[in-house]
Amino acid sequence: MDYNKEEVTYIKSTLLLERFTLKNIRKRLLSVTVTALTAFSLMAAPVSASGWHHNDSHHGSSASSSTWSYHHEDGRKACSEWVCDGNKWYWFDQNGCMCTGWQEIDSCWYYLNASGEMATGWKQIGNSWYYLQSSGKMKTGWLELDGEWYYFDGSGKMVTGKQTIGGKTYTFDSSGALTDSSSGSSGSSGNQTSTAPAGEKQVVFWGKTGTKYHIDPHCRSFKGTAANSGTLSQAKAAGREDWCGICSKSWTDEKLLQQGNPNVK
Ligand SMILES: [Zn+2]
Repeated sequence: MDYNKEEVTYIKSTLLLERFTLKNIRKRLLSVTVTALTAFSLMAAPVSASGWHHNDSHHGSSASSSTWSYHHEDGRKACSEWVCDGNKWYWFDQNGCMCTGWQEIDSCWYYLNASGEMATGWKQIGNSWYYLQSSGKMKTGWLELDGEWYYFDGSGKMVTGKQTIGGKTYTFDSSGALTDSSSGSSGSSGNQTSTAPAGEKQVVFWGKTGTKYHIDPHCRSFKGTAANSGTLSQAKAAGREDWCGICSKSWTDEKLLQQGNPNVK
């Protein structure tokens, strides 16, 4: 398409105007942003409002709720959420009260000590031993720890003595460590000599790098197929810490130990 001289001049001036306007808008936007930032930093300046608050008035809620609350730096009160402070985790209920004792959060049980800190590792409560994973989640089912196998029932209590689990009889010493397993009353299992819990045969997959183990040997995070496969404890010994969020949604160690990996025949 051809333009005459006047049209070209018009187009040029329009383009110039557009360029000028854009520049101006950008400048104005910048100054607005700077103003907003200045205002925000002024607002955020009195830091004393954030952090821990002790409330003298009781809320009349459950006995496990204390009167501590926590305010974020933007002034928002922590409600129904975890707060990490000094490497310790605390849970605040829907009223913003720090919780202590057993708490069920998103279908998992956690134990928060008297000062509200989330417990991890071994914990004796009443006459029972429990194991809280590094995430704070209460352990149920089999756990291999320092070369010993332990079993926690559905309420998280470590079992001792003779127990029948999944149709097989196991013996645990007073510390909870598995000492012996034998086939159940049916006696037909060809597995009598095995001392490893059922889960040891199950297989997970892991790559050359990363911290996850996978249910799927063709998970797209491998960019091909998995470099390694083995039992859950082998994966953990190889430095893998948790299930892959892509191929193993909703998978837990317990589920693998109970059901096995559907990809492994
Ligand atoms: Zn995966």
